[in-house]
Amino acid sequence: MIMARPVQYHTKVKVGKIPEGYTGQGFFATSFDKAVGLARKNSLWPLPFATSCCGIEFMALMGSHYDLARFGAERVGFSPRQCDLLMVMGTIAKKMGPVLREVYLQMAEPRWVMAVGACAASGGIFDSYPVLQGIDQVIPVDVYVPGCPPRPEGIIDGFMKVQELVGQESLRRRNSDRYKELLATYGIQ
Ligand code: SF4
Repeated sequence: MIMARPVQYHTKVKVGKIPEGYTGQGFFATSFDKAVGLARKNSLWPLPFATSCCGIEFMALMGSHYDLARFGAERVGFSPRQCDLLMVMGTIAKKMGPVLREVYLQMAEPRWVMAVGACAASGGIFDSYPVLQGIDQVIPVDVYVPGCPPRPEGIIDGFMKVQELVGQESLRRRNSDRYKELLATYGIQ
């Protein structure tokens, strides 16, 4: 006879971290940028740019076991104009570099980039003439996830680092001098 598995409920549910602010009897006040940061970091829309094996780890990440939806990022999009997190997974050939850059340019601000796996971060084991030795040669990268391939837990860790960044980023990221200088090094205005 097959016994049904008992349903387990997690009693210790973690509630999202409340931003700094002022609390009192029946009210909580914080600054606008902190409230926007909280909303942005918990509703990222990833654009998966998967060219090889690391993409398989991403598929596992989106499945029910690892479930990226828990972080508010289940809405994967394939239109750069609708996404704000470019996740690059896999070997990027030099011929693919301009395509990747074009996708990045089509994303609206604010936008962030994750290099997932050794190939996207540094060319990985493919130290050869047709392979781009890291996507940061063509676009700026916010978070690098090591591994060949990284396990889904590793990608989740990288994703949480992006969330940290997004939560603290200024509302007008694009207008900050530091960001403009960074884009200028890539010839992006
Ligand atoms: S890092 Fe490893 S697993 Fe990922 S795309 Fe490159 S060779 Fe494949």
